[in-house]
Amino acid sequence: MNYYKNKRLYIDTLGCQMNVYDSDKIRQSFEECGCEITDSASEADIIILNTCSIREKACQKAFSFLGRVKKLKRNKKVAIGVCGCLAEQEGRKIIERMPYLDFVAGVNAIYRMPEIVKKAAETKYRPVDTGFDNPIEEPLLRSPKSKVDISEFVTIMRGCDNFCSYCVVPYVRGREISRKPESIINEIKMLVANGASEITLLGQNVNSYGKKNGTITFAKLIELVNEIEGLKRIRFTTSHPKDLGDDLIEAFKKFDKLCPHIHLPVQSGSDAVLKRMNRQYKIKDYIEKIEKLRKSVSNISITSDFIVGFCQETEEDFNMTLDLIKNIEFDGIFAFVYSPRPNAASRKFKDMTSEKEKKERLYRLLKLQEYYTKKKNKDIVGTIQKTLAEGLSKRGLFKNEKKEWTGRTDTNKIVNFITSKDYEPIGKIVNVKIEKAFSHSLWGIL
Ligand code: SF4
Repeated sequence: MNYYKNKRLYIDTLGCQMNVYDSDKIRQSFEECGCEITDSASEADIIILNTCSIREKACQKAFSFLGRVKKLKRNKKVAIGVCGCLAEQEGRKIIERMPYLDFVAGVNAIYRMPEIVKKAAETKYRPVDTGFDNPIEEPLLRSPKSKVDISEFVTIMRGCDNFCSYCVVPYVRGREISRKPESIINEIKMLVANGASEITLLGQNVNSYGKKNGTITFAKLIELVNEIEGLKRIRFTTSHPKDLGDDLIEAFKKFDKLCPHIHLPVQSGSDAVLKRMNRQYKIKDYIEKIEKLRKSVSNISITSDFIVGFCQETEEDFNMTLDLIKNIEFDGIFAFVYSPRPNAASRKFKDMTSEKEKKERLYRLLKLQEYYTKKKNKDIVGTIQKTLAEGLSKRGLFKNEKKEWTGRTDTNKIVNFITSKDYEPIGKIVNVKIEKAFSHSLWGIL
């Protein structure tokens, strides 16, 4: 008898878009075995947590989730396990800490998970499948019954070779491997045929796509994706500033489906800090690349990541970061206080800055950026923005005669907009006149 008949899987995901993509693939591989998917952990026979270990807080979240679901084992036989980056990092140690767990699967084991769960149920042995000896297989194509969203992610490469000194990714996701272009194109065609309008190409450093295995460049991949009939928009994330070449900057001009938005993590405004981070570029190079991007596409939106309070960051270093924010005027940023990670080189660096000081710096940085985010949003009030409608907004029906929808501009800003009650824009790119700007969103009318 099929082991998965009448079984239900609940999967929870922590961390980045790559984990969201992997969870989707895990869900599909269980569905293909005949397992049902449930949104409720208490109704599930199998509970999987897809984990992140990029920051200490993400690890704490994972352990707290696993602590909460333990009680579900009291009432029925339920298999609980972990996968993803924390699973890769900790391996069997997670089972030693939480002996009620049934399995641990590393990032290369995502397509073997139905096998792993079955093995855990049929033997007393609790499998721990981590490490990079077994290469990851090409992702499954989605069967037409799978739910496809308007905006979908597609992983084009895995792992990273850059070894930024604060980062755990090369240790938990392994070395960089690019997927074959044909496999990526086939997956996107399948998604578009089933309703996707926008695709975000994912990788730790998409700019180095194909370089190692000598296939095609990232700009060429965008060209191929741009030709897919029915696809309306292309996005990508994340780019490493050192690898951002002129061909990609040109691609923004050449390919009409490529959205004018780039997320280009800079991390710090100080060359001394960048050197300790092993980022392999200087601030002057970063600024030059932003200038080129703006010259190529005048309305391009630029977002970035910052780490505040990295080892030995002085007040002077930090002020350079604030100066960079004033200079570039980013559309938005993500910023975090530095937290040392196991295996990462920076764990051995001296860290003189107190936690209190780091938090104060983070507050000052976010406060400054808030001004620029609002300014950028206000600048587009009165303009018409091409917006991909993704669904009804939280408000939905508006004054009983209009409907309010939510979507994104091509520059990746969230827009809520109203239409007549009978109009259905989902999946379409519509023209929205922006009437109001808020800190995190825009509001307008069709
Ligand atoms: S580029 Fe640096 S920060 Fe990004 S995943 Fe690779 S090592 Fe980590």
